[in-house]
Amino acid sequence: MTDFGGLVAIVTGGASGIGLATAELLNRRGAEVAVFDLKPDGLPDGILGIEVDVTDDAQVESAVAAVIERFGRLDVVVNNAGIGAVGDVTGNSDDEWLRVMDVNVVGMVRVARHALPHLRRSPAAAIVNTCSIVAWAGVEQRVLYSASKGAVYALTLAMAADHVREGIRVNCVAPGSADTPWIDRSLSQAADVTAARAALNAFQPTGRLVSADEVAGAIAYLASPLSSATVGTVLAVDNGMHGLRLRPPAQP
Ligand code: NAD
Repeated sequence: MTDFGGLVAIVTGGASGIGLATAELLNRRGAEVAVFDLKPDGLPDGILGIEVDVTDDAQVESAVAAVIERFGRLDVVVNNAGIGAVGDVTGNSDDEWLRVMDVNVVGMVRVARHALPHLRRSPAAAIVNTCSIVAWAGVEQRVLYSASKGAVYALTLAMAADHVREGIRVNCVAPGSADTPWIDRSLSQAADVTAARAALNAFQPTGRLVSADEVAGAIAYLASPLSSATVGTVLAVDNGMHGLRLRPPAQP
């Protein structure tokens, strides 16, 4: 499929997990792809890696300029870089609050700010932000992370309203627990990693985690010119975790 043929995409956080799967998929579907990441190492051939910290406005500005210089246009931005945080409302310092909001929310703002002048010239402009089901579902010990993703949801809707008349579609994807290095890092804290992974799988309505490729597929759907009427939506990719109310399994 080549629905992205001739288009140019930026994927932030594209060196790992969901971002990497997205960069690869968009590239396979015809896009030129630039990955903005802290460590854009080991990317597949044909994907441009640029070292960018999304908390640094000057770095973001010059990386967007480098994409334009290299490819001459910009059509798609996938704002995916994000970091986690653990704790209840007493659990994170002010510095950590500011850091997580800076990466997860203001990072998206910086990339969008510098991308917009170029997106306005695209006939197929789309921004996809990576949100999370924790924006709507209360999950224990995730106060800061959830607040950041709630902000991403609101940011997405407000941006969609501001830019729809310019022909720029803004949407977000909301993964549930997705099997990426992020989850590996989180599970590595457990006393019994195998048991913790089995418990996490069992917690899913489908009995398994979402894959990075499945989230990438949803991001590609939202970013694709084929989805030109999809604006200001959130697409959950969560194994039904948020929307379903399943009865407990029958006892043998
Ligand atoms: P990951 O840790 O595998 O990848 C995140 C990438 O972001 C890394 O390559 C990292 O270097 C990059 N990054 C971090 N801070 C950055 C910065 N300041 N500037 C540039 N790049 C930076 O994680 P993932 O699971 O692929 O998560 C990707 C996104 O999906 C995040 O926004 C995360 O909040 C969201 N998400 C993940 C899950 C999950 O279960 N894995 C669930 C819901 C939402």
